[in-house]
Amino acid sequence: MSLHQKIVIVGGVAGGASAAARLRRLAENAVIVLFERGEYISYANCGLPYYIGGEIAEKSDLILQTPEAFYERYHVDVRVLHEVTAINRTAKTVSVLNRTTGETFFESYDKLILSPGAEPIRPEGNGFQSDRVFTLRNVPDTFRIREFIDRSKPKTAVVIGGGYIGLEMAENLHRLGIDTTIVQRSEHVLPPLDFDIACQVHREIERHGVRLLLNNDVRNISERDGRLRFELKDGTIDADFAVLSIGVKPDGDLASKAGLRVNSRGCIVVSDQMRTSDSDIYAVGDAVEITDFIAGGKGFIPLAGPANRQGRIAADNICGITSKYEGTQGSAILRVFDLTVATTGISEAAARKAGLDCEKSFTWSASHAGYYPGAVDMAIKTVFQMKTGKLLGAQLVGYEGVDKRCDVIATAIRCGMTGHDFAKLELCYAPPYSSAKDPVNMVGFVIENILTGLVKIFHWHELDELRKNANVTLLDVRTKHEFDSGHIDGFINVPLDDLRSRIGELDKSKRIYVTCQVGVRGYAAARILTQNGFDAYNLSGGYRLYHSIFGPKTVAVKKSTPQMEKPGETAALKINACGLQCPGPIMKLSTTLASAKVGETIEISTTDPAFGSDLEGFCRRTGHELLGVKLERGVTIATIRKGVPHAETGVTAEKTGKNFIVFSGDLDKAIAAFIMANAAAALGRKVSIFFTFWGLNILRRPEHIPVEKDFLSKVFGWMMPRGSLRLPLSKMNMGGFGSEMVRSIMKRKNIASLEDLIRSAQAQGVELVACSMSMDVMGIKPEELIDGVKLGGAAAMIAHAEESDMSLFI
Ligand code: FAD
Repeated sequence: MSLHQKIVIVGGVAGGASAAARLRRLAENAVIVLFERGEYISYANCGLPYYIGGEIAEKSDLILQTPEAFYERYHVDVRVLHEVTAINRTAKTVSVLNRTTGETFFESYDKLILSPGAEPIRPEGNGFQSDRVFTLRNVPDTFRIREFIDRSKPKTAVVIGGGYIGLEMAENLHRLGIDTTIVQRSEHVLPPLDFDIACQVHREIERHGVRLLLNNDVRNISERDGRLRFELKDGTIDADFAVLSIGVKPDGDLASKAGLRVNSRGCIVVSDQMRTSDSDIYAVGDAVEITDFIAGGKGFIPLAGPANRQGRIAADNICGITSKYEGTQGSAILRVFDLTVATTGISEAAARKAGLDCEKSFTWSASHAGYYPGAVDMAIKTVFQMKTGKLLGAQLVGYEGVDKRCDVIATAIRCGMTGHDFAKLELCYAPPYSSAKDPVNMVGFVIENILTGLVKIFHWHELDELRKNANVTLLDVRTKHEFDSGHIDGFINVPLDDLRSRIGELDKSKRIYVTCQVGVRGYAAARILTQNGFDAYNLSGGYRLYHSIFGPKTVAVKKSTPQMEKPGETAALKINACGLQCPGPIMKLSTTLASAKVGETIEISTTDPAFGSDLEGFCRRTGHELLGVKLERGVTIATIRKGVPHAETGVTAEKTGKNFIVFSGDLDKAIAAFIMANAAAALGRKVSIFFTFWGLNILRRPEHIPVEKDFLSKVFGWMMPRGSLRLPLSKMNMGGFGSEMVRSIMKRKNIASLEDLIRSAQAQGVELVACSMSMDVMGIKPEELIDGVKLGGAAAMIAHAEESDMSLFI
């Protein structure tokens, strides 16, 4: 093809650089001029957060092309630090500002391609302009953030916005050892996901020690002594700096000033050939309005893949090859610590908003054959049309193999495939890679069963209503042990293997709602029941999904230091205690240790959040050696070497400690406990105070801390005193007057206040341990406790008691 035209391109990154390269391949004789406002072209926007976190070590790795190399390869006249400031459509010229010399000139064009991208949203006023509030769009922004971190050595950061860039930044700041909080306006992070899948992302974030404040937003930012104070919808937080990532807006100014059609959001309106309202001007990338491939409506989905493809399509059409952009599907993937999160197509929320008739299904599948080491489960949510079975979207989270499954589903969605088609797919299988029934096939089987009416399903959000209904039976078909370790309120237990023999215990006149761990045994049970004349339904995603949404909040895992890890140590025995709540894992470990030989190593895997701290005390007390604790793909893995039990050697840990168990939330009792604790600490004793039930109120922060809670926990939270300043007296409280009187008498007599006593106890090294089980029962979240409090379980308390010559229950 020979084209002797002059093509001017605005923007030299994803869309612009792709268009330029394709143009040159198609039209060797064309004159191609590319203007880029910034210093760099074709840089790796998607890699910028990883440079800040240090995973990408070299600055040069971020720059994929230089103007010189681009010229050599493509003969494209690239001019960096040149900003196109206006388009004169009649004269067919653009005005260009040379940002180095300050001079302005005109450049003529036959065809113009706009790829100016999108810029981060920064609200006007309210402190958002502070130079400690950073945004991240390009290479200079990246260097600015890195330089600030290197120079100021900040300890704390707030990431405002929990979208893709926000989460990547939070992970990378955390990697640098910066204590990071994410503030997210909506009820979940990653808006393209649905709440039920995003809950697993929340757990991963919290497990790694990043604080997550949902349903919240930053109203104002003020700066004092080099620190920032953030006024949130609920409460305030302080930090050394912030990264603002609340979304981007299309850079459609140049186009709109030139009279090109832009929509109300500022996106440039284009045809499916990427032509604007002026037939000589094309626009591509983040700045353009897209058609939603699934729902058909217009939208704004800024992603690199679409920008690159649109650049190519614009070039094709300029060169006479008819090429069409058929819409954006929203395929996206992201790493959140160890977890991979991927999505394609439309979410359930978006499908319902678009008025599409849809159903959803949740499946859990192993990343590869379960019998081959290292298999881990992934959760897949699919949204499909009930009438046709056509897939509308999928969301996947897991630790391995998520990317390829999402890509298969994305391809299938592009081809308009149905659940039936998914069941037919022949995908690669060998044990290290997959299963004979790949997770994608499993999705197909489940959808097919639903479409054909073989199984009726119900969902986690229907349970509240079902529990109120006297005409239903809620049945959990897991083993008794699994059921006892945690189940959904209102369910009775008949294990699947006993179901046929115990079917007579169930009332046939009632609808029966079945659950199991992930939905597979529930399906088998629903089939048995249906064929026996019951009206049965299976919980999609099972107890595991329910627990990931409503289970106790995840607590950050305290990892062992590298010195603690002993490389090369392979465990002789492995215990899987995942899913068991405190004290289940420690009991399982204890039983295994009892039958192990001295010197043997045991590896225990658990999802119990308090396990790490329980284990330290347990090993100290029992004479076993804790070799290491690590967090891997959502599971805490600890390695312990069996020692000679203290009971056999006669060795006992020094028993001079003082152990307090504070059950009461009364001011006078709390004062007494802290006075004694301070005195014992002053005498050089190791002191530990274990706070359980009402005693936890002593440790609550006085201010309202914005945390996610269910209704009952909220009510509990309102009714209980928030922190030491609000505690009542055990006697003569007189509506709070008694407490005030005691405080004023203590002040007059120069006795330290409870708050001072708490502070001095902490300064003296008194260990304050909050009972994780009571916190769960009372709906108290770790963020609501004062700083320096550890979480622990019964084993931690017993370990302290055994090391003490005195235990007091207050
Ligand atoms: P850009 O790549 O933003 O390029 C636009 C260029 O135009 C800019 O360099 C700008 O300086 C220049 N320009 C603007 N106006 C003018 C003018 N008047 N004159 C001259 N030059 C001008 N997407 C993914 O799919 N996956 C990811 O993992 C991912 N991660 C990301 C991480 C970060 C930190 C960021 C910022 C983005 C990420 N994206 C990701 C989004 C992706 O980078 C964009 O969708 C893509 O770069 C858009 O391409 P574009 O050409 O439209 O705009």
